[in-house]
Amino acid sequence: MKKLFIDIGGTHLRSEIESDEGILRDTISSQEMGLLAYMDRQIVLHPQIDFIGISYAGQVNNGVIVSAPNINIDKYEIAFEVKQRYGIALEIDNDLNCAIRAEAAYWKSSNIAALYIGTGIGAAVIDQGALIRGNANMAFEIGHIPYRETPLVCGCGRNNCVELYASGSGMAKWLHYYGSHLDPVLSQLKIGSDRNERLIVSEFEEALLHAAGVLVTLANPEIVVLGGGVIEQNPYLATLLREKLPHYALSPALAGLRIEIIVLENAPLMGAKLLERHHG
Ligand SMILES: [Zn+2]
Repeated sequence: MKKLFIDIGGTHLRSEIESDEGILRDTISSQEMGLLAYMDRQIVLHPQIDFIGISYAGQVNNGVIVSAPNINIDKYEIAFEVKQRYGIALEIDNDLNCAIRAEAAYWKSSNIAALYIGTGIGAAVIDQGALIRGNANMAFEIGHIPYRETPLVCGCGRNNCVELYASGSGMAKWLHYYGSHLDPVLSQLKIGSDRNERLIVSEFEEALLHAAGVLVTLANPEIVVLGGGVIEQNPYLATLLREKLPHYALSPALAGLRIEIIVLENAPLMGAKLLERHHG
């Protein structure tokens, strides 16, 4: 028997087929074809597939894709459709919910939070060993907590989300607003000659501290794992959080807290493999 695991984000779709013969890896552009079309192709090529686990960079709930700002969606009721067409069980979850499962296993922690900063800023929390989901699998969408009113519009439609400051897309919106031609790269903006460019950096850091302070105060994890493209390029942000978080979070919630940078290479895909144990 074979198992198909997929990690789909805004730029790439990565997959692994696991069987007794080993692991078969594949990467395509996520714009090349829809998720269902990709699975159709893989299932025809590998008829022994009997389980599919998917990490998805968008909002999903109970096997249904709710929304994904950067992914071409060819079917919303994805688990139902695959079951109908092929009789194959499919589990799909948000990429951060998948990543935190892999992180909890790696750090051997049952009270752990992930804070990812890339195009957006998102979080996921495992508390007492259980993933916090909320009513519609939307818990800890930290990027959209209200922060400060701006002249910009967030991907969610509001104008006051913390993501408008503490994310790659937020920095890009401010640069456009100020008429700057620089890329949204913290290290370049930090040494920019323009005071607005430097302001974007200080406001990014302030908003990140605010978001992390809210996360730690509300979830009280023992470990916060930092990940995402912006963190990978700016590991100094971990030091910033370690030093300044006491000004942004409730002090008892900080006792024993560790802030770590992610070491797993592809936590979302590893987490997709852990979805099977939740399948019943
Ligand atoms: Zn928002």
